[in-house]
Amino acid sequence: MHAQLALRAERCNEVRLQPEGEYVLYWMQSTHRFEENWALRFAVLEADRLNRPLLIHQGLDPTYPHANDRIHSFVLENARALARRAESLGYTYQFVVRCRRDDDRRVVDRLAARACLVVTDRFPTCGIAERTARFAARAPCRVVAVESYTVVPAAHFGKSEFAARTIRPKLAKLIEGALEPVEDRAPRRAFADSLASGLDVERLAIGACDDAAIAHEVARCEIDHAVPPVARTYFTSGLDAARARLHHFCAGALVDYEQRRSDPTDAEGSSRLSPYLHFGQISAAEVARAVRDAGPAASAEKYLDQLITWRELAFNFCVRDARHAQLRGLPDWVHRTMEQHKDDPREAHYTLRELEEGRTHDALWNAAQHELRTTGVIHNVVRMLWGKSVMQWTNRYKTALDHLLLLNDKWALDGRDPASVGGIQWCFGKFDRPWFNKPVWGTMRPMSLARAYDKWDAAGYVRQWTPENGPR
Ligand SMILES: Cc1cc2nc3c(=O)[nH]c(=O)nc-3n(C[C@H](O)[C@H](O)[C@H](O)COP(=O)(O)OP(=O)(O)OC[C@H]3O[C@@H](n4cnc5c(N)ncnc54)[C@H](O)[C@@H]3O)c2cc1C
Repeated sequence: MHAQLALRAERCNEVRLQPEGEYVLYWMQSTHRFEENWALRFAVLEADRLNRPLLIHQGLDPTYPHANDRIHSFVLENARALARRAESLGYTYQFVVRCRRDDDRRVVDRLAARACLVVTDRFPTCGIAERTARFAARAPCRVVAVESYTVVPAAHFGKSEFAARTIRPKLAKLIEGALEPVEDRAPRRAFADSLASGLDVERLAIGACDDAAIAHEVARCEIDHAVPPVARTYFTSGLDAARARLHHFCAGALVDYEQRRSDPTDAEGSSRLSPYLHFGQISAAEVARAVRDAGPAASAEKYLDQLITWRELAFNFCVRDARHAQLRGLPDWVHRTMEQHKDDPREAHYTLRELEEGRTHDALWNAAQHELRTTGVIHNVVRMLWGKSVMQWTNRYKTALDHLLLLNDKWALDGRDPASVGGIQWCFGKFDRPWFNKPVWGTMRPMSLARAYDKWDAAGYVRQWTPENGPR
């Protein structure tokens, strides 16, 4: 077994492997790709070792947090591409949609009843870790979760890392080995049609769906239809679109990444790959290799610091600290300062609804919220300001945190990710150090919406993202 696989795989129950099972099941939850998918690699190896075929199963149901048209459409469109590619790559892939909350929940259970073992993705947010743990506790066979999110296997870091500066040198020592390409291959034994038709599962022929059929499928699901899909001009789902964007970025903006990433009016100044990385449509290792090879070295290093150091720091936090989405996940100095400043008068008070609709007194903040609602992301520079401002406008720090998590996870195409949690908690001092003491901020790093106008073209950004001006 490849050394990385041993580090990435984790047993989820003590149940034995069932050698009389008919197949190995890979339950695809967070890594929606066939390439550089460590869980799939593990499942292929096990299938070959047991001389069994492999079934890849992906399901979509209405019970995940903030289930809505935006997320459903992105997942379905990628599933269509997977279904169309599977056969030529030698995989058997099936996709099942559960539309209603009270529809049959136990598809994976039924599939597991006939499996030797179940392999799935290891992912600490989106409710996936909890769902996997519940399933593993009742599964009749061994369940193994394998992590494909990081470039460097997260198991190298046994404890919660304190800050970027503590994890960065450790990652630097491991990165070259982790980036060595590993060849993907299909399982040796084919999954017989007779076996597939004998499974008691209602598959969606997603490979044959056109856009209208996907829209119809989304419309009949019991999900939040008030969050619409993102227009394809912003994000088109799938590996092909992700690769096109990666290569365009490497050939263009990468060379000036350090400067261009700080200009929120520059639509192509950063890679805009976060939704693809979130859904696992492209592997971070593939992105890292392309950037490293395209160079120049200083730009590549800056980019890889975001993609690897900051992203994997966030993953480490979510995996190692069960309190990652709560104020309790913040360092002691933050708690001390929050306690001292909890009753400081706030600049304004906004309800969740006012924030969600972008109806604050601040045009720049409202523009950021409008960018989020329209495109499914906010530019990084503005996202920091967007996140930092909310504690000034709610009477409790906890309310600010809860509102931000909700707004980000509901509207962002890259939301519900470890990087979402890491980014939002950073606004409250996670991975940071104490600054000078100020009202409400306490010793948390302050950030000013007003001062943004001196640093970059905030007026231009507001013009671009104010609803009456329409989307760009
Ligand atoms: C309040 C707040 C909320 C955030 N919410 C999210 C979120 O929901 N999902 C998300 O992926 N990122 C989030 N981030 C981090 C960052 O803003 C986005 O990753 C970045 O803006 C995505 O744009 P890009 O793909 O063009 O980034 P690029 O600059 O091209 O960077 C490449 C990749 O590196 C990773 N990355 C970049 N910056 C960070 C960072 N600070 N922390 C972790 N990973 C990073 C992302 O995967 C990104 O796609 C948040 C940051 C803040 C301050």
